[in-house]
Amino acid sequence: MEIEELKAKLRAFGVVGAGGAGFPTYAKLNSLAEVVILNSAECEPLLRVDRQLCKYYTEEILSALELIVKTLNAKKGIFAIKSEYKEAIASLKEVIYKYTNIEIKILENVYPAGDEVVLVYEATGKIVHGGSLPIEVGAVVVNTETVLNVYNSVYLDKPVTHKYVTITGEVNNPTTIKVPIGTSIRQCIEFAGNPKIENFKIILGGPMTGRIGALEDVITKTSKAIIVLPEGHSTIIKRNLKTSIKINRARSVCSQCRMCTDLCPRYLLGHNIQPHRIMNALANGLTSDIEAFTSANLCCGCGICENYSCYQGLAPSSIIGELKDRLKEKGVKNITSKVGSKVNARREGRKVPMERLIARLGLTKYNIEAPLVEELYSVNKVVIKLNQHIGAVTTSVVKANDLVEVGDLIGKIEDGKLGANIHASISGVITAANNKEITIETRRYING
Ligand code: SF4
Ligand code: SF4
Repeated sequence: MEIEELKAKLRAFGVVGAGGAGFPTYAKLNSLAEVVILNSAECEPLLRVDRQLCKYYTEEILSALELIVKTLNAKKGIFAIKSEYKEAIASLKEVIYKYTNIEIKILENVYPAGDEVVLVYEATGKIVHGGSLPIEVGAVVVNTETVLNVYNSVYLDKPVTHKYVTITGEVNNPTTIKVPIGTSIRQCIEFAGNPKIENFKIILGGPMTGRIGALEDVITKTSKAIIVLPEGHSTIIKRNLKTSIKINRARSVCSQCRMCTDLCPRYLLGHNIQPHRIMNALANGLTSDIEAFTSANLCCGCGICENYSCYQGLAPSSIIGELKDRLKEKGVKNITSKVGSKVNARREGRKVPMERLIARLGLTKYNIEAPLVEELYSVNKVVIKLNQHIGAVTTSVVKANDLVEVGDLIGKIEDGKLGANIHASISGVITAANNKEITIETRRYING
């Protein structure tokens, strides 16, 4: 297959990164790639999607990875997978001999093994410099479910209509399910046997980087997990704290011990991000250390500084996230030099073991299996967002009362713009369509 042909197919079928911010996959494919790394590290605690897809869809994922490697004319593919995914590794080892241009890289069970910069270093020994992309060192990184979607698009002519999601925490049957995009969070929790407790809150995504969600929110192409927690859980309380309070606490009690910097995975790879300096600059005023503020752009938002390193319970990661948003609003770009990154000599001893992180987060009791159930759940209504990827918002091509079948095109990205098409995830009637979302309901549901 030619690279332009593959790109056109993935664009048409709406394939975007299923494990992160939703970057359109076709735009990642670059003929300068020397290596294609499959990211099967799923680094957030409690998430169970990637390990199960690797176990049950090993050949599909390997075939699509091989196709990408060959199409980009890269030297090889690397299947990077965490050591603790034992069943997935066993499945992989049974068939890997058929794929001569793909090798397996076993990753340690540390956080954040799936961060692109960390992953590229672990898999290739090369450092992506601060503010740069993996392609700078000849690497393209693709997520496990994304690659499965590439397989479905190329070999089965199926657009992206469904999403695998782990539902765990205080639910009766922690599980990983495949649901139509646009399914409500409320319904997903019902599929997992409903909450076990009355007063709960929901984290959408992982406990380190996810956000507090509502039952009315819906599944998108980037949803990974729904974690139901008691409303008094420390993970919830931290998220509910106002930024102004976090900043005041940082000003008054940060001891400048620098543990947040010493354990920062990007700092340990030589990037010029030093959260303790940002905390100090906050206390001493804007002009005290301007470089510290602008270096915020080098933070990947992994949350180690806030959830693991700081013995004072301060919130460097949240504060840096806020700072990044403000810098973006004001058009301030990272001005840090892209050269000179050098791995810290103490990096090996400063990796954060997953088990210890989970214990620190108070999540050990929820660190259990969430088995993949392939049953197709009956969903009568979906609300599909037109902005669920990086790039331009997709334009609706349907109107109220139109009938659609699963897989029909309902949102089209304008030619020449970065983005992804969107397809119907259930068959039924369009009951609402505007420039933000499209609602589809089954006839039976409408007729009661
Ligand atoms: S770890 Fe906490 S107390 Fe220490 S420098 Fe960082 S923010 Fe300040
Ligand atoms: S969230 Fe904290 S630990 Fe993670 S990259 Fe940013 S500054 Fe470093």
